[in-house]
Amino acid sequence: MDLGLRGKVAIVTAASKGLGKGCALELAKEGAHVAICSRDKDRIEATAAEIEAAAPGVKVLPLAVDVTDASKLEFMVNEVITTLGRLDILVTNAGGPPPGRFDQITDEMWQRAFNLTLMSAVHLIRHCLPHMRRQHSGRIVLITSGSVKQPIQNLMLSNSIRAAVTGMAKTLSEEIGKDNITVNCVAPGRISTERITELDTDRAQREGKTVDAVAQELATQIPLGRYGSVDEFAAVVAFLCSERAGYVDGTTIPIDGGAHKGLF
Ligand code: NAP
Repeated sequence: MDLGLRGKVAIVTAASKGLGKGCALELAKEGAHVAICSRDKDRIEATAAEIEAAAPGVKVLPLAVDVTDASKLEFMVNEVITTLGRLDILVTNAGGPPPGRFDQITDEMWQRAFNLTLMSAVHLIRHCLPHMRRQHSGRIVLITSGSVKQPIQNLMLSNSIRAAVTGMAKTLSEEIGKDNITVNCVAPGRISTERITELDTDRAQREGKTVDAVAQELATQIPLGRYGSVDEFAAVVAFLCSERAGYVDGTTIPIDGGAHKGLF
């Protein structure tokens, strides 16, 4: 299936590794030019070189930008327009907030997670929308978590603030559908990345088990019996960013091997 992504321009944030990198790579392989950011300049430039090598002819713009820095996000979007000429796709991603239970979380931690998880997406979308509206088309995909369907033990911050992201995205889809811009969320279950290894390690320490034992135990709760790969995740995101997904809007798609137990 031709996704119709050739020549489109995408921003993927928090993309030096893990899910963000996977999405940028998949979009580039489909022929889209990509701007990618993360906090670490060397790491994001190395990732850009990797993507360029894997997708010859595609332009990759690496930017050292922390998504919690609102002024840098405006700079990034302007830079994309200046360098790549247009903007068709925004994939919002950020590092995950730290794990913890209610009693362990201070006001400062709540505020930091709010800025990282919700306000980064708000600021990015605010700066991208005028360009998408001008061309009367756009795709916005927000990376959230399976926790928006089924809260995960010990992830108080993620469970709470990603629900706000989901509500914002759904409400926004109603406001900008008329501009031919779709807004969807993707909710990863357990996709093998460094973040997932960190969470498994945290759990292993709390429960006095090995990391492998924790991973095996969690995999048995997934109908497909395994963690997902970044490629499997990125393929769904690329589809949502494509012309072929023109009538998918205002929804959250779990990418979790069937782990979510509800009907919806
Ligand atoms: P990861 O492997 O730890 O990668 C995180 C990426 O985000 C890195 O490129 C990191 O680069 C960048 N980053 C972190 N904080 C940033 C910031 N403030 N500004 C800009 N870039 C930033 O994580 P992942 O597994 O890909 O997860 C991505 C997101 O999905 C996280 O929010 C995670 O909680 C969520 N999630 C993942 C899964 C999963 O199965 N993997 C499941 C549920 C939810 P720098 O360090 O260079 O900034």
